[in-house]
Amino acid sequence: MISLIVPCYNEEEALPFFYKEVRRVLAEIGQPYELLFINDGSKDGTLKLLEQFAAEDPLHNFYVSFSRNFGKEAAMYAGFCNVHGDYVAVMDADMQDPPSLLPEMLRLLESGEYDSVATRRVSRKGEPPIRSWFARRFYHLINKISDADIVDGARDFRLMRREMVDAIVEMDEYNRFSKGIFGWIGFKTYWMAYENVERVAGETKWNFWKLLKYAVSGIVNFSQVPCSIAGYLGFGMTFESFLFLIVVVVRRLAFGDPVDGWASTVSIILFCAGLQLFCLGVIGQYMAKTYLETKNRPHYIVAKTNVENAKKVK
Ligand code: UDP
Ligand code: MG
Repeated sequence: MISLIVPCYNEEEALPFFYKEVRRVLAEIGQPYELLFINDGSKDGTLKLLEQFAAEDPLHNFYVSFSRNFGKEAAMYAGFCNVHGDYVAVMDADMQDPPSLLPEMLRLLESGEYDSVATRRVSRKGEPPIRSWFARRFYHLINKISDADIVDGARDFRLMRREMVDAIVEMDEYNRFSKGIFGWIGFKTYWMAYENVERVAGETKWNFWKLLKYAVSGIVNFSQVPCSIAGYLGFGMTFESFLFLIVVVVRRLAFGDPVDGWASTVSIILFCAGLQLFCLGVIGQYMAKTYLETKNRPHYIVAKTNVENAKKVK
């Protein structure tokens, strides 16, 4: 069986297009399937549409509706916890993950050589250039400083075997960054490249700040390097200032030089104070994550669903 997970947040405009196209493709493939839509606290008519789909074809269409917006990561996790397929994929509701790629992905998986077929965009056509630039920098950086292997342009859209899905469900950390998790669990992945497709209707749910927050959290979740840098910087500066201290004392004792340079002293103090605050901030990021992790809160809260046992959050 093939399971498709579709996180939806205010997608009433795009959903009908997606639904029609994905059903067409699945009928063409001709294998048993289930569609699991996650309503991530939409404020528009998304839930109504999902209920309509479920009423239309209760054997194939399922939904889990959250009590509020918990974010795409929580929606994907809810999906992984509640699907039963041997092959599982996450797909955006806006057609930016083209359903037409599914038959080819399935063929590659069934050849038995790979455990997952992942997709990556080779272009970022139609995206603001500044966003593309930051995205590229982010992928470059995170690959350098973490051991989660993340490909530039990688999408969350990938078809996986059951073993991989079980491994993902097993990783029940509260702060989730799926691209990192997919890379971290390993398995053999085939990368399929395709040209970027623009969203069919509606608007993107991500603005610059939301993306920046997501990027920082991705780095903090998968790399300890920022913490080490803070440590090394501190060590370096302590050592350096110790040398300075010796120079100043020797100069005073040997030559009796009066100390001048009030301005430079103040700048150095300010610089060091800034650096200390910055490093505290870095450590604070890790502390905040740990804090949330130890609270052990549920990833999401289900308000309504037609999936059996979906209310039991792992
Ligand atoms: N999404 C979600 N919860 C959110 C934000 C987005 O479930 O808080 C879903 C959204 O409905 C879509 C997918 O995640 O199916 C990707 O969102 P979007 O297309 O807005 O992102 P973009 O493609 O612009 O990066
Ligand atoms: Mg999109």
